[in-house]
Amino acid sequence: MPKLEIPYKELSSCDVLVAGGGSAGVAAAVSASRSGANVVLIEKSTFLGGMATGALVTPMMKNALDTQHLLTKGLFLEACKRLVKAGGGAAFKDGNPGWFNPEVYKWVLDEMCVEAGIKLMFDNLIISASIDKISLTKIFIFNKGGCFSISAKEFIDCTGDGDLIHLSGVSYKSNERQAMSLRFMMSEVDLKVFAEWLQKNDKAGDSPVYFLDNGDILLTSAYTFEKEWTLKPFFDEALKNNDLKKEDAAYFQMFSVPGSPGLVAFNCPRITPKDKPLDPLNNEDTSWLLVEGRQMIKRISAFCKKYLPGFKNSYICQIAPYIGIRESRRLVGQYVLTRDDVLSGRKFEDGIADSNWPIDIHPSSVVSHNTPLRHPPKGDFYQIPLRSLLPKENEIKNLIVAGRCLSADFEAQGSARIQANCWAMGEAAGLLATKRIKQLSSI
Ligand SMILES: Cc1cc2nc3c(=O)[nH]c(=O)nc-3n(C[C@H](O)[C@H](O)[C@H](O)COP(=O)(O)OP(=O)(O)OC[C@H]3O[C@@H](n4cnc5c(N)ncnc54)[C@H](O)[C@@H]3O)c2cc1C
Repeated sequence: MPKLEIPYKELSSCDVLVAGGGSAGVAAAVSASRSGANVVLIEKSTFLGGMATGALVTPMMKNALDTQHLLTKGLFLEACKRLVKAGGGAAFKDGNPGWFNPEVYKWVLDEMCVEAGIKLMFDNLIISASIDKISLTKIFIFNKGGCFSISAKEFIDCTGDGDLIHLSGVSYKSNERQAMSLRFMMSEVDLKVFAEWLQKNDKAGDSPVYFLDNGDILLTSAYTFEKEWTLKPFFDEALKNNDLKKEDAAYFQMFSVPGSPGLVAFNCPRITPKDKPLDPLNNEDTSWLLVEGRQMIKRISAFCKKYLPGFKNSYICQIAPYIGIRESRRLVGQYVLTRDDVLSGRKFEDGIADSNWPIDIHPSSVVSHNTPLRHPPKGDFYQIPLRSLLPKENEIKNLIVAGRCLSADFEAQGSARIQANCWAMGEAAGLLATKRIKQLSSI
């Protein structure tokens, strides 16, 4: 292969370089900066939040033992409180503080980073890394101005897809697949009409509705082939009339959005071809998925407008700029979190995140079969150890990994990947990076 030589300029160095500004990246950058490090955060897009904002993954899933006992606090809870203050957040009646408006979240995350003194570098793709023996020395970024390098003492890979893991040559796996989704939102839904219809017709409790004192209506509903959902009659009719294809109806989920009357966010469509799983790291696959996904959204949004109570005047207002990627690369680090750890509620001496979110695998190639959720023991939780954020000891020594690319087996990642856990992992990673720098400078 011909070697590509690109001229580059060197930018000033920093203590901690955070790659990627999703939930884990923001948490890592804020905790490193607040604990005394000089931090640069590199983000390939034009906003923070990653999947939460770019893929419209709202709300954050509940990580709590009951309404009183949240399992993630720290920076995660701070972000939730800031969202409420900004008019774009709320807690659901089950105690989940993580309902939010993805657009408001963008500036809330900006504010957290700017207040912490982090240097934000948007619109920069990390394309390469330089290594000296077992240390990362610098990364290379590309933007409209050209190619640049930045050196740092500690690096934290929060790219979700483990780009820095890959570029620095540490061990990882990328051998199994969850389905990808392309999420969207609709405006001008008459939520009161829809909420009242759900309350009247939901006999199984699958579509909870919550009226807040400020007039907001929080609600969620769903449909799959496996269960008698409240919305089933509408799907039966639309499938019979060919208004929906079978793959459009295989997984449907919707949530209203706090502080946004009439706005509904959809956790679908899930795009699963029959012949082979799609690879989020393969550009041909993701390009095909985007076109297919938008066609599915065209049909699903028309279905909502035609069939669902309160949707008559609604319209599509946003298709996610990012593909919703549940998992791609996973570090194989000092400890690989396992399915059994999750299901047995295992605790670790170096536990840095507590979670009771179930193993939630979205099948990647079969449209009609959803895998049941598998939970940790009732009333209990498992932990993610700090070692699941660290490459093996003989590999890169100044790299920490946080977020959905942690060191976990495929099934454990299916639980650990929720946003609350990504926040907790990022927070721990940032603290560790600063601690290691302080330890080195005191020698
Ligand atoms: C469809 C879907 C539904 C989900 N549902 C829920 C849910 O209901 N509740 C819940 O809590 N979680 C849910 N999740 C999981 C959760 O949203 C994600 O696992 C979590 O947000 C991942 O956070 P992260 O910080 O690890 O990575 P990401 O959010 O993916 O952030 C990575 C960041 O790195 C940047 N980046 C990547 N590569 C580079 C590069 N080379 N150079 C520079 N920047 C780069 C990206 O632009 C991005 O901003 C869902 C996920 C999906 C896809």
